[in-house]
Amino acid sequence: MSASLQGPLSGRVALVTGASRGIGAAAAIELARLGAHCVLTARSQGGLEETDDAIRAVSKAHGGGSATLLPFDLQKDADKLDPLGPSVFERFGRLDILVHAAGVLGTLTPVAHITPRDWAEVVAVNLTAAWRLIRTLDPPLRASDAGRAVILTTGLARSPTPYWGAYGASKAGLEHLVSTWAAEVAATPLRVNLFDPGPVNTKLRAKAMPGEDPMSLAQPADVAPRIAALCLPGEARSGEVVRAA
Ligand code: NAP
Repeated sequence: MSASLQGPLSGRVALVTGASRGIGAAAAIELARLGAHCVLTARSQGGLEETDDAIRAVSKAHGGGSATLLPFDLQKDADKLDPLGPSVFERFGRLDILVHAAGVLGTLTPVAHITPRDWAEVVAVNLTAAWRLIRTLDPPLRASDAGRAVILTTGLARSPTPYWGAYGASKAGLEHLVSTWAAEVAATPLRVNLFDPGPVNTKLRAKAMPGEDPMSLAQPADVAPRIAALCLPGEARSGEVVRAA
């Protein structure tokens, strides 16, 4: 028996957005380390290939899953999300895990100064894409005997903070949407949770807080096991906002 058959997620299929870097990439690597086959999505082919390389290295060293790369722009190609669920269903017969980590900050600025372009991008990626992912992936997630969805949020969603208005509003809408979905699927095996990683050393955080010492922060690999724990078949929580700190 190969080592890859021994992980708690062996044989499971995961789809991870934001998988080209940061928290999404670390979560995908952790899911693969636990044995999952990961469908990796983000815009950057190079970033996805780096995550794929890391997954191959982890699998070679410790056993584990593999990856399929799906470059995709959640804003510009949103209409093309609709066939995703059916094609996942056709290829795998189900989806066991969704980790939605793709997100954008926009520009930190007073609400009165938010540009239409920034607003459109932040709402498209942080909120509308989640609705479209849920719309297309709910059927294959329900087809799993232990479907798990983990959607990344932030404490700012419930703590309005000057200059973070577009980002905070998009995440507040996301939390409402995802919590509603969790309530709707409560009677099924599907478990849906939000995860707030706290401040983590990523490109998004560096854009928001350029003067901060990145090494004073948690690293993506530090929070990835918390996300993976919410994806395990034994996870019972649903409809919660799970916070790293
Ligand atoms: P990051 O390093 O900037 O990663 C963001 C990811 O989103 C990248 O993989 C990026 O890939 C993808 N993405 C952005 N726009 C996209 C688009 N239009 N279409 C498809 N993919 C897109 O940020 P991160 O910190 O890891 O963020 C991950 C999640 O954690 C986000 O939802 C964020 O709001 C949340 N979060 C982060 C922190 C923190 O301190 N870092 C705190 C609280 C919550 P491409 O550029 O290749 O498309």
